[in-house]
Amino acid sequence: MQYTKETKLIDVKGVGEKTAALFSKKGIYTAEDLVRCYPRGYDYFDAPVSIEDARRTCTGQGESAAASVPANPQRPFALRLILLGNGSTGYGGGYRITNFRAGDETGQIRLTWFNMPYLARSLHAGETKVFRGYLKQYKNGSLQLEQPQIYSLAEYDSLQGTFQPKYPLTQGLKNAQFMRLVRKVLDQLKTEKDYLTEKEREDLGLPEAGEALKEIHFPHSRKLLLDARNRIVFDEFVAFLLAVRRRKAQGDKTGRIPDPMPMTDSSVVQGLIDKLPFKLTEGQQKAWADIREDLTGPYVMNRLLQGDVGSGKTILAILALLLCAENGRQGALMAPTEVLAQQHMDGVLKMTEQYGLPLRSVLLTGGMTAAAKKKAYAAIASGEKNVIIGTHALFQEKVVYRNLSLVITDEQHRFGVRQREALAAKGDDPGTAELPVHVLVMSATPIPRTLAIILYGDLQVSQLKGLPAERLPIKNLAAPASDRGKIYKFMMGQLRAGHQAYVICPAVEEGELEGIENVTDYAEKIRKALPEDIRIASLNGRMKPAEKSAVMADFAAHRTDILVSTTVIEVGINVPNATVMLVENAERFGLSQLHQLRGRVGRGADQSYCVFLYSEGIAEKPKRLQILEKTNDGFEIAEQDLKLRGPGDVFGTRQSGELGFELADIYEDARILTKAAGYVDEKLRREPDFTFEGVKVFDARSI
Ligand code: ADP
Ligand code: MG
Repeated sequence: MQYTKETKLIDVKGVGEKTAALFSKKGIYTAEDLVRCYPRGYDYFDAPVSIEDARRTCTGQGESAAASVPANPQRPFALRLILLGNGSTGYGGGYRITNFRAGDETGQIRLTWFNMPYLARSLHAGETKVFRGYLKQYKNGSLQLEQPQIYSLAEYDSLQGTFQPKYPLTQGLKNAQFMRLVRKVLDQLKTEKDYLTEKEREDLGLPEAGEALKEIHFPHSRKLLLDARNRIVFDEFVAFLLAVRRRKAQGDKTGRIPDPMPMTDSSVVQGLIDKLPFKLTEGQQKAWADIREDLTGPYVMNRLLQGDVGSGKTILAILALLLCAENGRQGALMAPTEVLAQQHMDGVLKMTEQYGLPLRSVLLTGGMTAAAKKKAYAAIASGEKNVIIGTHALFQEKVVYRNLSLVITDEQHRFGVRQREALAAKGDDPGTAELPVHVLVMSATPIPRTLAIILYGDLQVSQLKGLPAERLPIKNLAAPASDRGKIYKFMMGQLRAGHQAYVICPAVEEGELEGIENVTDYAEKIRKALPEDIRIASLNGRMKPAEKSAVMADFAAHRTDILVSTTVIEVGINVPNATVMLVENAERFGLSQLHQLRGRVGRGADQSYCVFLYSEGIAEKPKRLQILEKTNDGFEIAEQDLKLRGPGDVFGTRQSGELGFELADIYEDARILTKAAGYVDEKLRREPDFTFEGVKVFDARSI
C-alpha cells in the first residue's frame, strides 16, 4: 500500500477510529500532517557511564558543567551494572516499590521501580545489565536510578548511538505508538520530486527533501540530523518568502498596497495626547507620527513597532484605536495571553471613562463562557463595539467583524505569522471588502532590521527609542541562592515603603523538576519567612483564566504585596508600583526571557530592583546573569543572546513557533534565511510563477 500526502490517517493500515481521534487532537488528520509533525527532541542513547561519572554530571561538576549549556538533570543516564543482591518489594506512598542494589567498579546505586513487583522475580543477583533512567541524588550522597528501562548488553549495544524521536503527545497517545505510525507512513509515502535540483542542493549544501524528512524523524547521526533540519528550515523560509513576495507583487511599484479610503486625522486624538498625565517621549512622538501617517496616508499600514520593555507602546496602540474609532471603523488589539488581554481591556476602559473617549470596547478570549462569547460576537458583528480586545480567539471563524480596519498585535514575537495574518484577512469578509486592514505589530524583542526586511519585505519599522524621562534605570544583582535571606530583608524594606514585589519560579508544582523552586511551595515558604501582614498571592499558567485575571487584578490594585508566579507574568504586565523582582533558579531561563521578566519592574518613577538568584551548587556566576547585571539595553541583550546560544543548541531555546515556523529560528538560522532569500529572488527572476508549498508555514493566501 502506498500513501500520498493527502491520505487520511484513518485510511492508513492499522489505524482505527480511536487512534485517528487521538491524533486529531494534535491537529493531525492526514499523512502529511503526521510527517510534518517533527519531533520535539530526541532521546540519544549514550554509551553507558560509570556510577561515579553519573554522580559528577548530576552535581554539575562533570564535563557538561563546563559547556555553555547547563547540565540537564532531566537527562536519562545509562549505567552498566551488576545486581548485588535480590530485589525486595515494599509499600510506600501508595505504591509497591521494588528495590535492588547494584554496582560497578566505581560505586553502588539503588534501582527503584514503582508498581512492578514482578521484577523482584525476573531479575537476579549477579546479573549484569544496562539500566537507563533518571538519576536522583540524596542529601547524604546516595544515588538512586528511578524506574529505569532494562536492556541486555546486546540489546543496548544495538541501540547505543541512535536517536529516538520524542513527539508531542496527548493523553492516551504514547510515544512508541506515534513513532511506529510515523515510520510506517514514511516508509510507504509516495516520493515527490524535489524542487531543488541536485546541482542546487550541492551549491546550497543541503540534502534531498525526502531524505531530510526521514532523517528529521529517525536520525542516523547528529550530522545528518543537523543537515535535515537545515533543509527543512530552508524550505520553511522559501515558502514564507514566496508568500511575502507574492503579496508584494499585488502592491504598486513601491511594493506597498494602496489604500483607497484613508482615514482622516481627528482632533480628539490630539486632545487625548494633550490631556495625558505625561508628555509623550520623543520616541513615542516619532512613532505616533509614523502610525498616524500610515493610517491617514495613501498606503495600507504594515508596521512593526519595536520598543524595549517599558518604553510605552500601549498608549500608541490606544491612540491608533481611537483614530480608527473616530473614523467609524473597528480596531482590534490582540495579546498573547488572557492576563495581558484583560489588562489592556482594563486600561482602555479606564481611559475611556477618564477622558470621555468615544471607545466602546469588548473583550474576547478563549476562556470566556460560551454565553459571554456569543454576546461578544453579536456586539462585534453589529458594529456596536468598535474596539475588540482579546487573545487569538479574535481570529476564529465565528467572529465576524464590521468595518474592521486596524489590527494591532502586542508582543508579536509570541504569535505565529499564520495567526496574525488570519486576523488581518478578516477584513475580507463580505460587506467590509473595500476596507483595507492596517496591521501594526508591537514587540519588545528586537528583530535586527536587516532580518525584518528580508522576512517581511515591505514591513515598515518604527523603533521606539528611549524610556520615559523620569524612569531610573533598574538596579540589578545576580547572587547565589544562599543570599536569599539578605534579599528578603531588602525586599521587606521596599514593601514597607508601600511598594510591591514579584517572585518568579520556574516550576508550578513540586516534583516537576528536582531542586527547582515551584510556585505552590514557594508561596508557602515565603509566607512563613515574612511577617504575617504581608499579603502573598500566586499565579501560574495552569490556573483558569478567570482565576488568573482575579489574581492579577488584586495585585494591580495593591490588594496583594507579593506575587509569586511562573513566567506567565513574562509579557507586558504593567504594575508600576512593583519595584522588586526576584527570580529564583535564574540560570534556568534564557537571556532574553530574563530581560522580558525584568521589564515587569522599573515601570514607574521609583527606583526598581531586579535580583537573579542562581541555584546552589553553581560555583561561578553564570555568564547570562553577568550580562544582565551589566546592561538594561534590550538590543544589546538580544545580540549577546545570539552569541551565547551559538549553533550547538539545536532544539533548545529557539523562538521558532513564535514566528509561525515549525523549525526555523530567524536568529539562529539567519544564514539559511539569507540563502533562502537569495534563492527565491533568483528563482522568481527565472520562473515568475514558481510556487512551493511542500512545507506548511502558514496560510499563504492570507498574507
Ligand atoms: P511597554 O512598551 O512595555 O508595553 P507600557 O505601554 O505598558 O510599556 O508602558 C509602561 C508604563 O509607562 C505605563 O504605566 C505607561 O502608562 C507609562 N508611560 C507610557 N508612556 C509614558 C511617558 N511618555 N511618560 C511617562 N510614563 C509613560
Ligand atoms: Mg506592553
